[in-house]
Amino acid sequence: MQKRKIIIVGSGPASYTAAIYAARANLEPLIFEGFYAGPPGGQLMTTTDVENYPGFPEGIMGPELMDLFRKQAEKFGTTFIAEDVTSVDLKQRPFKVEAPSGVYEAEALIIATGATAKRLQVPGTGDNEFWQKGVTACAVCDGAAPIFRDKPLFVFGGGDTAVEEAIFLTKFGSKVYIVHRRDELRASKIMAERAKKHPKIEIVWNHVLTKVEGDSVVRTLTLKDVGSGKETRHDAAGVFFAIGHEPNTGFLKGQLEVEPNGYIKVVKGTSYTNIEGVFAAGDVQDHVYRQAVTAAGSGCMAALDAERWLAAREHAQ
Ligand SMILES: Cc1cc2nc3c(=O)[nH]c(=O)nc-3n(C[C@H](O)[C@H](O)[C@H](O)COP(=O)(O)OP(=O)(O)OC[C@H]3O[C@@H](n4cnc5c(N)ncnc54)[C@H](O)[C@@H]3O)c2cc1C
Repeated sequence: MQKRKIIIVGSGPASYTAAIYAARANLEPLIFEGFYAGPPGGQLMTTTDVENYPGFPEGIMGPELMDLFRKQAEKFGTTFIAEDVTSVDLKQRPFKVEAPSGVYEAEALIIATGATAKRLQVPGTGDNEFWQKGVTACAVCDGAAPIFRDKPLFVFGGGDTAVEEAIFLTKFGSKVYIVHRRDELRASKIMAERAKKHPKIEIVWNHVLTKVEGDSVVRTLTLKDVGSGKETRHDAAGVFFAIGHEPNTGFLKGQLEVEPNGYIKVVKGTSYTNIEGVFAAGDVQDHVYRQAVTAAGSGCMAALDAERWLAAREHAQ
């Protein structure tokens, strides 16, 4: 059984940043990068241009950015295993971490398994279709792209996120439609009113998406009236899913305290979870900002918190 001072579960900006800091502190971190649980390297592996990560004024491709993060973590002595962690035992110390290659032990654990944006499974929206060619799940990340400028954009969802994303997109699109399958938004009253009053937003009630079409990018989409079943085709350049995210916490099997929405609960302003020695970073504990730079920042926090916690523990022994 391999024993490590620190094991990091997950890959992406939070995990790799935590590894850079932990490795430079001679903690020889081991990262489980994931395999089936999500793309090793995280959500940015599924996108093209990242234009808002500081330090890259010309923008950088998501996978290239993650490759650079990973190389930096590797340079300082991080070990990587491209496997999913299937379960952990946080009730005994050292913690037990189970993966297909065996059971590993860790004195400290950083959870950085991210979240998965929910997507509608509709023809035309798949990875080999128009995903990232007009179909996306992140308006803040992608909304400013030239393909969306002065074009009709469609947001799918009915909660606060859908309204926030629609309002954000009004800066770029000619018109923004919020398509909702019901006749009432789930969003808070104030947000719903904001959407209804906005001159560039139109709410399309009781409709669902049935098809997305285009050439090299999205050109049209088809909506279905849930009452009559009638389908209508519309010009569209952008299809934005705003139907929520799922934090990747299944392998924890309820052993860590989570927020009511399922995100790992951390002590405000830190990466501390309710179990001493277990730290959380990135989107798995952040349902508000969900950006690469905030994930990286919280990865740094987790590594520093873990390093100080380990040092204090050694000192006390
Ligand atoms: C299409 C798209 C475009 C985006 N564009 C931008 C952008 O332009 N700018 C920006 O700042 N942000 C962007 N984001 C958001 C950004 O990608 C996330 O905020 C960021 O990646 C979160 O990083 P993270 O470190 O929390 O982990 P994530 O990127 O969420 O990755 C976590 C990874 O952990 C691994 N994992 C999960 N479960 C396990 C397990 N049990 N065992 C081992 N490994 C596991 C998986 O490989 C998973 O992919 C975009 C997101 C999407 C979906």
